[in-house]
Amino acid sequence: MTARIPGREAIRKKGMVRAAKWLALRRISQLTILLLFLLGPLAGVWIVRGSFSASMTLDVLPLTDPLTALQSLLAGHTLGATALIGALIVAVFYLLVGGRAYCSWACPVNLVTDAAAWLGRRLDLKKSIGFNNTVRYWLLGFILLLAPLTGAVVWEWVNPVTILQRGLLFGIGLGWAVVAAIFLFDLLVVRRGWCGHLCPVGALYSLPGFLSLLRVRAARREQCTDCMDCYSVCPEPQVIRPALKGEASGSPVILSGNCTNCGRCIDICPENVFQFSQRF
Ligand code: SF4
Ligand code: SF4
Repeated sequence: MTARIPGREAIRKKGMVRAAKWLALRRISQLTILLLFLLGPLAGVWIVRGSFSASMTLDVLPLTDPLTALQSLLAGHTLGATALIGALIVAVFYLLVGGRAYCSWACPVNLVTDAAAWLGRRLDLKKSIGFNNTVRYWLLGFILLLAPLTGAVVWEWVNPVTILQRGLLFGIGLGWAVVAAIFLFDLLVVRRGWCGHLCPVGALYSLPGFLSLLRVRAARREQCTDCMDCYSVCPEPQVIRPALKGEASGSPVILSGNCTNCGRCIDICPENVFQFSQRF
């Protein structure tokens, strides 16, 4: 028997456009953001200055990664008003759209981990080391503890997003080595290992995600045929079941802060079970 390929049934029933709409929009978003960061240093077009950790858009919009801001404060550094306003803007934005929307709509490492997940599905690689996905919260705590102990923003030394951005700008080997390591770890060791189990940035962003307004809703869950395609493509498959099967609160709304609002379950479901909605 040939393995079921997630998405094939959705394409057959809904057509290619509706079966890949949110995926296409996400790729446009991720690549546009990356391009905006690279345009200044590479082409002298300074729409955005800075990095994913702290940036200024069109000289008026400051954006600061809350994890960088938090570490800086804990390390005893004084943050300027611009950096604090930037962190506040980011926090309020992700409180509305879901914290982990950063992971699926902005973070460039997601391109690497999605590629590993896609290849794993194509090769039908099922083996994955059982690995607790709460490790990321311990790692987050450890990083925050290191800041006052060392007086430094330690995570920035090893943050793959920063290393990848530098690699794209300067072509340094370490950037590509980190990308390759994450890709192989996700492909061969732990399915969705980096984003779903280890990344402390995602762990921090999941916290506003528990409260956020924008949600995915299993609005037509009675139509579900248990084909499992949504579970196969979801980067955090554990978030689906409570809403789809009416467990816990019985609500059809996916309430976990770890749903990345990627919309892939909406694309892939042949029965149109899911839709974007608001939490109430
Ligand atoms: S909601 Fe049900 S029918 Fe839709 S993809 Fe998931 S398992 Fe399949
Ligand atoms: S539940 Fe849907 S929107 Fe949320 S992470 Fe999974 S595939 Fe993406």
